[in-house]
Amino acid sequence: MNIHEFQGKQLFARYGLAVPKGVECKTVEDAVKAYESLSTDLCVVKAQIHAGGRGKAGGVKLVKSAEEARAAAGEILGKTLVTHQTGPEGQLVRRLWVEEGSQIDKEYYVGIAIDREEQRPVMMASSEGGMEIEEVAAKSPEKILKAGFSPTSGLSADEARRLAKGIGIPADLVGQAVTFLQTLAKLFCELDCSLAEINPLVTTKDGKVIALDAKINFDSNALFRHPDVVALRDFDEEDEKEIEASKYDLSYIALDGNIGCMVNGAGLAMATMDVIQLYGGSPANFLDVGGGATTEKVAAAFRLILSDENVSGVLVNIFGGIMKCDTIANGVVEAVKQVDLSIPLVVRLEGTNVDLGKEILANSGLPIISADDLDDAAKKVTHAVKGA
Ligand code: GDP
Ligand code: MN
Repeated sequence: MNIHEFQGKQLFARYGLAVPKGVECKTVEDAVKAYESLSTDLCVVKAQIHAGGRGKAGGVKLVKSAEEARAAAGEILGKTLVTHQTGPEGQLVRRLWVEEGSQIDKEYYVGIAIDREEQRPVMMASSEGGMEIEEVAAKSPEKILKAGFSPTSGLSADEARRLAKGIGIPADLVGQAVTFLQTLAKLFCELDCSLAEINPLVTTKDGKVIALDAKINFDSNALFRHPDVVALRDFDEEDEKEIEASKYDLSYIALDGNIGCMVNGAGLAMATMDVIQLYGGSPANFLDVGGGATTEKVAAAFRLILSDENVSGVLVNIFGGIMKCDTIANGVVEAVKQVDLSIPLVVRLEGTNVDLGKEILANSGLPIISADDLDDAAKKVTHAVKGA
């Protein structure tokens, strides 16, 4: 789960990490009032969307008067920002964060992610702040310092100092930076984050180390432990179909192809997408209905797939293990009747009671195209879609 920058900064503040003072705004008037209430000449008006790269896209503006704040807020609010992280369709700006401006001395990068090879969190720090870290990693990987740490004992002061000095934090601010990095590591572990990124972390002309940006992702498997974090979820920023899917406990990710896929098991779902591509087709989604797919769940999955107007054919690929193929076939037939399907549907069943399952499909009177294996299924659905 993702949250906004301002929510990330509020969590930072709760842990004592230094962030600029700011106000969340939903209207231009709010932004003008926020500028006045911050009583500092320089303020920053920032678009709040769940994507980075806002600066380059015109979503971050420095303002020096209430009138400039009004103009900046007017320009950003209601605008669809297209950044390298939003995709070409962009993301509508519904909220702003207006904060006091900082006199930046130098920008740095700090991030924590789980390193799967090391099997623990790793802090990355770089002198190259404010730039895309992926680019730094590709062009000058030696400029990214790393320190893995234990989630129970945290980041040691020695390691934090090695990073702070290594990225060039001025000697008189190293102490502040060490505390900052250790606290960030603590926050990451306590809140079950999967990513905590500050780009840029800055040193200011008046000798402070503060976070000017905040990007936090949470491990959704641990959200049950953090109701206060769940409360920060912003449905406006999420794909409608993905929200609907989460209600039925379906793992669904929208893609831009035209073949809807309904599969049980993430591995089989990925293999299905690969084989569709192999035969020149293009999957419209990743969808894992899980092990215990009921008729209700299968019907919800069908509705979800069909609500995507790009879908012109559906492939159901289910392996009956714990669930038997006849149960699944009944579920598919029931669901197809409920949703009034008008596009080609290819079904491939395998596993326990497969013959019985195929018989149920064949006797249903519905125009279901039955397939024998994954290869056959992918060929049939790409063919049917092309013919349609
Ligand atoms: P992003 O583009 O979505 O990553 O948004 P950021 O919050 O990182 O802001 C983009 C850039 O705006 C930063 O890298 C800074 O260079 C600049 N910026 C943000 N806040 C301030 C500020 O208070 N003072 C100054 N001078 N620049 C700022
Ligand atoms: Mn940033």
